[in-house]
Amino acid sequence: MKVELIKGDITKIQADAIVNAANSSLLGGGGVDGAIHRAGGKQILDECIVIRNKQGKCNTGEAVVTTAGNLPAKYVIHTVGPVWNGDEKECVSLLENCYNNSLKLAESLGVKTIAFPNISTGVYRFPKELAGKIAVETVKNFRSDSIEKIIFVCFDDENEAIYKRLLA
Ligand code: ADP
Repeated sequence: MKVELIKGDITKIQADAIVNAANSSLLGGGGVDGAIHRAGGKQILDECIVIRNKQGKCNTGEAVVTTAGNLPAKYVIHTVGPVWNGDEKECVSLLENCYNNSLKLAESLGVKTIAFPNISTGVYRFPKELAGKIAVETVKNFRSDSIEKIIFVCFDDENEAIYKRLLA
């Protein structure tokens, strides 16, 4: 499994699946969530509403999948990161769940390439260094038959520098 770093906008990435740092309502928000819904179009929100009507909200650490609408990707995997509340043990475990559950879902869809944003490191205020460490360790420990490439898409300079170091 190859692990790569790209600096930029995840909506532009041509992977089988891109991951969205969603909120539990699944109804869209700011940051990367807003960018994905804006660029992907209404179809993504429509499918999120169907999921919500079926299962209710998406709990922290869990993941669901929709079409990618107008995006170059095939699927959007929506996962809900933890809001940093200072409880390191709990937050770390929930963030690990985000990566593992997204990868499990991707695997079940036969995804070969998957792109992750830096989940929880925006409005949810998770410390970036710790979040990066968990992201890299969790994906490297994931054993998969179908996934060939994992791309970390860093939007801001600070995350880019952290991932560069962690992946070196
Ligand atoms: P969260 O609520 O999980 O913290 P945010 O969207 O606020 O989600 O931030 C998560 C990360 O996504 C941040 O590091 C932010 O810089 C990054 N980000 C924002 N827009 C984009 C985008 N278009 N592509 C990739 N990453 C993005």
